[in-house]
Amino acid sequence: MPATGSILEPNSMNLTRSDRSQGFFFPSEILDEIVYHILSSNHTFSTIEAFSRVSFRFRQIALRSFFAKLDIYSKAHWINVCGITGVYSWTRELSSLSTSLSSAPGNLLSFQDIRTIELDFSNEGLNTQHNRATQIFLGRPSSCSTLGQQISTRISLTTLRLSYLPRIDTALLALISGNFPALKILALTCSERLLDDCCWDCYEEASSCTTHSPIPDMYCNAEDLSVAFGSALSPLRNLQSLHLGIYLSEMEIFYYHIYHSDLNSSLRPTNHSTTIFNLKATSSSSNSNSNPPWSLVPYGPNMCSHCDYLYSEDVRKTELYASASIARFLPALKEITWSSFFAQDNPGDDPDEGSTMVWIRRKEGKIRVRRAPW
Ligand SMILES: [Zn+2]
Ligand SMILES: [Zn+2]
Repeated sequence: MPATGSILEPNSMNLTRSDRSQGFFFPSEILDEIVYHILSSNHTFSTIEAFSRVSFRFRQIALRSFFAKLDIYSKAHWINVCGITGVYSWTRELSSLSTSLSSAPGNLLSFQDIRTIELDFSNEGLNTQHNRATQIFLGRPSSCSTLGQQISTRISLTTLRLSYLPRIDTALLALISGNFPALKILALTCSERLLDDCCWDCYEEASSCTTHSPIPDMYCNAEDLSVAFGSALSPLRNLQSLHLGIYLSEMEIFYYHIYHSDLNSSLRPTNHSTTIFNLKATSSSSNSNSNPPWSLVPYGPNMCSHCDYLYSEDVRKTELYASASIARFLPALKEITWSSFFAQDNPGDDPDEGSTMVWIRRKEGKIRVRRAPW
């Protein structure tokens, strides 16, 4: 018996025979807290297995606490979990790859009291994203779920995070807002697919597979984008925090950066294999004082003083404008975060994450925004 055993040992509590015959040892709420505390440092069932063997009541508490947080790592895991009696009422948080749910996507709507869902779309592409999202959020429900359960899921969900999305568009936003009207936190991220850990060719390739800067190809300007996004999200009357992981800088800025970085970098390799060769050659060099091959490693406009000088002022104005514009459609919105190449030294800016947060204040029918709490 682990540490919990000594705490829960009936003899150590001076219980009367009557108490023990009635099974009165500890209130369930306290047992829940103990198991929650144990799982918070190591969420594996082995840490509470001995506890779960004490009695039927302890086993129920252990299972309820363990399955409150689900991390689905494969299609088979998802199928197995969905076959466990009780899991649909125990789970409060679920995280998964989008593809892992594809074996039985409708089962997600059977979780009656789920509060937080986090899905990683890194295995999806521009052509598969919409179908996968529709399959998961609007899919044919499992045979065991009732209409009441599906409604319960949609009403209980308050936090939704979708990461590594190929794009953020009105079809996705309308799908979310139409199905989960009680959302308070919505985080959709896209720009992290711009991987800068290999070579310039891979950087450009990742850019072509991701709509990280939708202006002007998808929306002609920030006004167009904010009206489209705000309208699609308008059913979310309780939404307080919105994270949109896209850049509001125009796509041409990104292309121009690639172009002038190319001109400035005489060492820029011609392809992926050249980079790997050069990096290996440099790392194995006997001269430990040689400069690192920075010119070989791609970098975005966020690391470029030239782009910062040319564009940061206008882009930062655009970010404030779009924030205020979207806030018109979402009456409870308090903060909005964008991906940004031009984060600076402000409370809302995070240069490491490449993001900028804008706080919203409403007074006398007017909306005001700034990059610090009001
Ligand atoms: Zn640049
Ligand atoms: Zn590469």
